[in-house]
Amino acid sequence: MNKNIREAMEEREANYLSPHACLSRNSQGRLRPEDECDVRLAFQRDRDRVIHSKTFRRLKHKTQVFLAPTGDHYRTRLTHVLEVAQIARTVAAALRLNENLAEAIALAHDLGHTPFGHAGESVLNELYPDGFRHYEQSLRVVDILEKKGRGLNLTLEVRDGIINHSKGKSELITDDRDGMPATLEGQLVRLSDIIAYVNHDLDDAIRAGILDEESVPADIRNLLGNTHSARLGSMVRDLIVNSLAEDGARLVLSQPILTAITDLRAFLYENVYDAHRVHNDFIKGQKILRELYDYFLEHDEYLDDSIDYSPETTRERRVCDFIAGMTDHYALDLYTHIFLPKPWSVK
Ligand code: MG
Repeated sequence: MNKNIREAMEEREANYLSPHACLSRNSQGRLRPEDECDVRLAFQRDRDRVIHSKTFRRLKHKTQVFLAPTGDHYRTRLTHVLEVAQIARTVAAALRLNENLAEAIALAHDLGHTPFGHAGESVLNELYPDGFRHYEQSLRVVDILEKKGRGLNLTLEVRDGIINHSKGKSELITDDRDGMPATLEGQLVRLSDIIAYVNHDLDDAIRAGILDEESVPADIRNLLGNTHSARLGSMVRDLIVNSLAEDGARLVLSQPILTAITDLRAFLYENVYDAHRVHNDFIKGQKILRELYDYFLEHDEYLDDSIDYSPETTRERRVCDFIAGMTDHYALDLYTHIFLPKPWSVK
């Protein structure tokens, strides 16, 4: 029998990709079994489902670091995930890992982010009785919330990469398998995430006038370079070269570059994320979400009723999902509409 297009592509993948790559045809499948597509590989299909989702489109109006930025060149959560995907694909191509899997995880990993970035995440964590973590919410979006409560039904490998992408302030590379993605592609997205954000957040902080190039510690500048492109290139090249030296069996960064990345992250925490000007906006954003949360516990008006929830879903869960799904603009507009008086217009 003739192979269809997808089956022919699966064979090409098996012949071409590294023995350490996750092949599409070896996927452990989906929560609800589905027929395979005749023209697309399983992970390509996942990537397409993410891109066509409403939650993905809303990322364009969600904060990366700067709240609802009006400057055209600031990153948003959407451009962040595109940069993560680009880095992950570059490394995956060089190591012959599965680019489609890496891209699908990268594009989906932050779907659960709240309005106002980590400020929103911490306030929902405080308000919602079971706590709130954006990576758990990302999984909830793809498993349940998208498509009016049916979810995107993604493969287990993409779901594993989403739930295990976050590292907080913990070790970047570790032999501890606990909390690490099962596939190398998932582990690659985890690293690409931090490589993307330390670079673009630094670039945006310089653009915003919070930092200048010279305030970056000299040892970091000397090692990585003086421009955004040089710094990013140094990290990506180091990851490729050192991983290839171990036959691509695991992801490796040299010790100096690993130290520079963690030092740069610490530098950004101190000088950008916790900086007075940025932090002040965070406090205001948190106040808005806190008041919206309390309001929706009591009021049905405006509450999203498009999702077909299971009967045991609590009011708090619905409110938490609704607020987590908002863009910065939507939260600001809704707050204004609900809580601020409208001036009388005389005609
Ligand atoms: Mg991210």
